[in-house]
Amino acid sequence: MTAVTEIDLSDHTEFDGHEKIFRMEDKATGLLSFVAVHNSNLGPALGGCRYYAYTNEADAHSDVLRLSRGMTYKSALAGLPLGGGKSVIIANPDKPKTSEMMQAFGEGLEKIGGLYVTAEDVGTTEEDMVSISNSTSYVSGLPPSDKSPLSGNPSPLTAQGVFCAVRDVTNAFGERDKLAGVKCGILGLGAVGYSLARYLDELGAKLVLADINDDALQRAKREFSSVEIVSPDNLHRQDVKVFAPCALGGGLNDKTIPEIKAKVICGAANNQLAERRHGKILHDKGIIYTPDYVVNAGGIIAVAYAYYAQIGENPFGHEMNRENMVAKIEKIGDTTREICLRSREEDLPTNEIADKMAEAVFLN
Ligand code: NAD
Repeated sequence: MTAVTEIDLSDHTEFDGHEKIFRMEDKATGLLSFVAVHNSNLGPALGGCRYYAYTNEADAHSDVLRLSRGMTYKSALAGLPLGGGKSVIIANPDKPKTSEMMQAFGEGLEKIGGLYVTAEDVGTTEEDMVSISNSTSYVSGLPPSDKSPLSGNPSPLTAQGVFCAVRDVTNAFGERDKLAGVKCGILGLGAVGYSLARYLDELGAKLVLADINDDALQRAKREFSSVEIVSPDNLHRQDVKVFAPCALGGGLNDKTIPEIKAKVICGAANNQLAERRHGKILHDKGIIYTPDYVVNAGGIIAVAYAYYAQIGENPFGHEMNRENMVAKIEKIGDTTREICLRSREEDLPTNEIADKMAEAVFLN
């Protein structure tokens, strides 16, 4: 039996006016989870469930609050009928993740009653979403089905959105040759980074790549036309036009920024700026930083279409087919270009412009 209690974190530094925060516990399976609903003005709060070995509950609170706020901004700027929320499960070394634990998590979501809808995040899989779906319908990220043919792994669509942003921003800022021969650095050749490399290779870009996984690098060398491999610590120092962080967050910080030579930073990794002030430092250096939550929204767009197809509702005002979904992902390029142009006109960092634009959507 999953116990669900609403908790008060209004004193927390990351609180930011969250609508509701819940603690969910099931002693039998070892489930201990927090669900944060930041804002539901535009629709149910959709965001992934992170399964992670937090050292204590306070760390889990900070993470869930920060992540759920980010989802509100991401969905608003992607033009989705969704609010922002997120959940975390504290990994318990004595009671590892089981399908029973995920079902207990689903039971808790059912009690919350649709205010929050979950999906995959770090540490959770499509299989986990299937387990959750045994006890609630408030779950997306399920395998494709007759009801929801657009479901499935969203990573290639995240990559497509990042690619559109790279293409449209570099075109707007001087690269009229559609990236042919332009040097682009990608840090992290995983599900998103590798697909991004393929898009850039198809346009004739010269790739400078780094990953801790040598297999991915060797595969890239075999498959793409122009590949230079450097160490992960050195990627940000390369003389490239575009730097695409596609591994971990926090890579844009006091140590790396003075060494960055790229003109444009555009990649999928979440929370690339170590702190908000780093957006201003990049702006003052004349480096165009495309806000991560704007350019990596392809995945949430795909998950949103899949979810609404699954529950048989259509809040989009157009047919929920692949063509319209891809058109929305392509718009990421337009939105990113608009943010970068406004940043130049108003002499303000891109992350501040993006936040203002998102707030104009979800606060009105
Ligand atoms: P992934 O786990 O498939 O790939 C990450 C890659 O980074 C791996 O190849 C890994 O070896 C490499 N890596 C890890 N640590 C590294 C290091 N220190 N230096 C160099 N390489 C390192 O992840 P993904 O799904 O491709 O996601 C990449 C980033 O994009 C993540 O930050 C993720 O949160 C974000 N993101 C992903 C999606 C999506 O749809 N997958 C959506 C939005 C945001």
